[in-house]
Amino acid sequence: MTKGIRLRFPPSPTGKIHIGNMRTALFNWLWARKNQGELVLRIEDTDRQRSSVDFEEIIRQEMEWLGLDVDEGVGVGGKYGPYRQSERLEIYQEYGQRLCEEGRAYHCYCTPAELEQMREEARTRGEMPRYDGRCRLLTAQEKERYQAEGRQPVLRFKVPEEAGEIIVNDLIRGQVIFDAAILDDFVIFKSDGMPTYNFAVVIDDALMEISDVIRGEDHLSNTPKQLLIYRALGFEPPRFAHLALIMDQNRAKLKKRSDDQAVYVGEYREKGYLPEALFNFLALLGWSPKDDQEIMSREELIAAFDLAAVNKSAAIFDLDKLNWLNGKYIREEKLERIVELSIPFLQRAGYLGEGIAAEQEQRLRRVIEVARTRVDYLAQLPAEAEPFFKELEFEDQTAVVEEFKGEQVKLVFTTLKERLNELEELNPESVKQVLQWIRKKLPVKPRAIYHPLRLALTGMNSGPELIDIIYILGLEEVEKRLDYALRLADRL
Ligand code: GLU
Repeated sequence: MTKGIRLRFPPSPTGKIHIGNMRTALFNWLWARKNQGELVLRIEDTDRQRSSVDFEEIIRQEMEWLGLDVDEGVGVGGKYGPYRQSERLEIYQEYGQRLCEEGRAYHCYCTPAELEQMREEARTRGEMPRYDGRCRLLTAQEKERYQAEGRQPVLRFKVPEEAGEIIVNDLIRGQVIFDAAILDDFVIFKSDGMPTYNFAVVIDDALMEISDVIRGEDHLSNTPKQLLIYRALGFEPPRFAHLALIMDQNRAKLKKRSDDQAVYVGEYREKGYLPEALFNFLALLGWSPKDDQEIMSREELIAAFDLAAVNKSAAIFDLDKLNWLNGKYIREEKLERIVELSIPFLQRAGYLGEGIAAEQEQRLRRVIEVARTRVDYLAQLPAEAEPFFKELEFEDQTAVVEEFKGEQVKLVFTTLKERLNELEELNPESVKQVLQWIRKKLPVKPRAIYHPLRLALTGMNSGPELIDIIYILGLEEVEKRLDYALRLADRL
């Protein structure tokens, strides 16, 4: 019987979750779903100083927001638990002990200063700085002496002399060959008693029966060490797939450089990107379907995703593409949901109060229906919606008021008021007809119509269609704003 597909996402809870890390989670999720496999969430919190449950919580929340559900692991449970590395110490110790007893690992008492000196000497000889294996052969007395000095040992893995070439058959990168001679006896237990990443990851992936390890390329160089541990413990290694890193548009590693550059998943959520849009975008970061389709649902992505078709070269994070995609999702989504998601942004801008009155709702829907056609993400929405919520203030703006001056503009403003008043019903169609009538029948230049009207009604030089503006503002508000503009013009 072939073993089922079991994948894992094992983040270290040492910070907010980065978009690159989430792409790794997403590829694991897609591959698990595609193969009817299982996805395990393991928390790698062996770095006690930097790990926190708050970060763990953030990771889980952001995964949930994106719709990356897991079948097993922290928060879900399962028969291979516990799933937090800090709760698995005894398991690691057992295997560490075994390696020690079999002479495949040994305690090293070298102090940081001694190690530094060793590296320094290697450098002056022009050699690669590496641990020289001096504690391999410590006698019982030497060990006792070190212990009496209060030295806390680390446990090192003894890289076998005969290790030779270590071959990683990577599902994405193909065959990658490492020469074991470049490895030194690496640490598997730190002096604080915690296992290192390379050790714990092997024990966990083996005991949790992980079939495929999909992770960032930054871990490719760790893989030969991990394979040596698999070999020493007699575990069968999983298949490996290393994802090329994500670069920014300058081909530099995608990382936080300024406040306005978002690299954490939470920042995209807070800016009002839709989870399904970000999901779609991340899935195409380093992979594309055969037909180069861009807008894809989760189901379509699951069906089309193929690990073997993932790119070997770095993926470029194209923010314009994300914005385009997100804007498209915002426009095509049900209005109800966009309204609901937009409310907090409008509240924060001070345009809406806590509760939303029933009579406000209709107007709000209209505002958002119009504003959503002009935004890439919802944080941009208040600026687009501003003219519908804010009182206009032109007193000190001579340049603006100049626009309202002259007989033609005055005629347009007063006629519009009259005509709108005569309407049986104010709706986009009737407003359109009024504007057409003004354009055709009044002895005025277009220059006296559109821009002055837009300015008088919104205070802005560009924005939604005039028809929408008038329709949404409603008769009373349109009259009020036109009267205000006329009053100012009269004063000139
Ligand atoms: N905790 C590691 C990380 O977040 C996991 C690496 C792996 O997938 O093996 O980088």
